Amino acid sequence: MAPMTKLKGIPAAPGVAMGKALFFASEDLPLPRRAITAEEIPIEMLRLEEAMIKTRHQIISIQRRLSEDLGQEHADILNAHLLVLEDQALREEIIHGLKHQLVNVETIFNEVIRRHLKAFSRTEDEYLRERTADIEDVRKRVLRNLLGKQSQSLARLEQPSIVVARDLSPSETAQMHKDRVLAFVTDIGGRTSHTAIMAKSLEIPAVVGLEVATKRIQKGEFVIVDGTRGEVIIEPDQATIQRYEVEQRRHQEVSRQLLQLKDLPAETLDHHRVILSANIELPEEVPSVIAHGSQGIGLFRTEFLYLNRPDFPTEEEQFEAYRSVVEQVAPNPVIIRTMDLGGDKFISPLRLPSEMNPFMGWRAIRFSLARPDLFRMQLRAILRASVHGNLKLMYPMISGLEELQRSNEILHEVKQELAREGVAFSQQLEVGAMIEVPSAALTCDLLAKEVNFFSIGTNDLIQYSLAVDRVNEKIAYLYEPTHPAILRLIKQIIDVGHAANIWVGMCGEMAGEPPLSLLLLGMGLDEFSTSPVQLPIVKQVIRSVEHSFAKSVVEQALKLRTGKEVEAFLTASLKQVAPALVE
Ligand code: PEP
Ligand code: MG
Repeated sequence: MAPMTKLKGIPAAPGVAMGKALFFASEDLPLPRRAITAEEIPIEMLRLEEAMIKTRHQIISIQRRLSEDLGQEHADILNAHLLVLEDQALREEIIHGLKHQLVNVETIFNEVIRRHLKAFSRTEDEYLRERTADIEDVRKRVLRNLLGKQSQSLARLEQPSIVVARDLSPSETAQMHKDRVLAFVTDIGGRTSHTAIMAKSLEIPAVVGLEVATKRIQKGEFVIVDGTRGEVIIEPDQATIQRYEVEQRRHQEVSRQLLQLKDLPAETLDHHRVILSANIELPEEVPSVIAHGSQGIGLFRTEFLYLNRPDFPTEEEQFEAYRSVVEQVAPNPVIIRTMDLGGDKFISPLRLPSEMNPFMGWRAIRFSLARPDLFRMQLRAILRASVHGNLKLMYPMISGLEELQRSNEILHEVKQELAREGVAFSQQLEVGAMIEVPSAALTCDLLAKEVNFFSIGTNDLIQYSLAVDRVNEKIAYLYEPTHPAILRLIKQIIDVGHAANIWVGMCGEMAGEPPLSLLLLGMGLDEFSTSPVQLPIVKQVIRSVEHSFAKSVVEQALKLRTGKEVEAFLTASLKQVAPALVE
């Protein structure tokens, strides 16, 4: 048996889990390169043909399922995949490659397809550019079949397992069920990547950014995942297993105790009240939100309705999703954020060509304003749902006044359109702007005149202000919510919002970290919105302190010079008032 090994990564979602490791390869498989003789070329071509036939069968069966579930037009989207498999010119290029290089067909097939992909992604022709995703998909499928690897679906694991992957996209994570995926660990990724956020929502313990997890863990090995501390233990001894079983029970017990605060208000000892609400990605999360005692939904990340499907959700589908959430949460509010596509959330129907800097690219409100057809459809659905409860709307990634005014103009036009059609919508609908780009933070006095509230998106505000990619584990140590620059920016946004008589919330992960919630409370934040699992602990922080104490913490913290100093000070301050909440 291999000796026990401990790996340290980035804690992404809390909790302890243990079980057997299962590998999930969504991306490139390691390709063996093997020399062949000229006589072997026909055998290699035969292997390729067999893999292509198998791929064809797989695609046809997916088409059949799509056509039954969603209709023929959805199934037809995969016709482009079939065309790639039938391409005669491709076969000739591969034979040519085999003859000249005398290496195995996996290597040649991969090289040829990659060459095409490169050429397609550079072309001016939009149609060809859009085909790159089809070709990439076919490349992976054929290679998997050549290598005899099963393509897996995270939604249908046969046994409860610990998933080990180099990377997982937010949409792959969204397919997980916690009774099958006990925990997951990845080589890459950061604490506020949408994969990590999704794991928290699904209550699946996770550690990301381990760098070497796929190298050090072997298939079938027994591993312990400690998502709270960001640790993974491979092949633990009996004493360690027992220690973690105790830890697992302790974690469950603490969560159970904190849940008893569910119906108590989020109020300080000297009666300063704040609103505690939850972030969700999918309508199915609403029961968990209610179970954790939320006073509403501070961020509904609607883009997840657009992932894992071959087409766009219709107005009707969106309306139903929004209505169901709004009705379940009423009379508490639900803040629906218009789609924040792009960044690390990509959608299949668009087949967007990849960007060098996706987080700084065609994303969020920029995408919506460039695709008014989709934006208007979403606004119609949101407005129609507004009569079914307490709904508010907000725009993501506003970077300046013009963008906000343009969004509001479109909203106004859509309202007029609905009024003409005699369709009801709430006349009191509050509209907010997310403040998550430094330029918005610095001009929020101008933005405040156009909206009813701000919601600070620290996941992005931190990455843009500190120039630290939120999904890159190599620089994760620089991703500091406690950096003096972040403290100053947040304080300014809250102060300016209040001076303009609008309320200010926060829906970034920062709002759910206990020492930081103490700071935000002192800064006068009105609403804290975080993953449902974090809610009870934030409530406990708020209920343990006097508001005046939190204010004095802010005063001291603003005098400190580095993120580390601020972090140590906040932890010590929290320990003073709520020792049980500090590890
Ligand atoms: C944020 O940026 O803080 C935020 C809440 O939005 P998202 O994490 O979806 O980018
Ligand atoms: Mg954001």
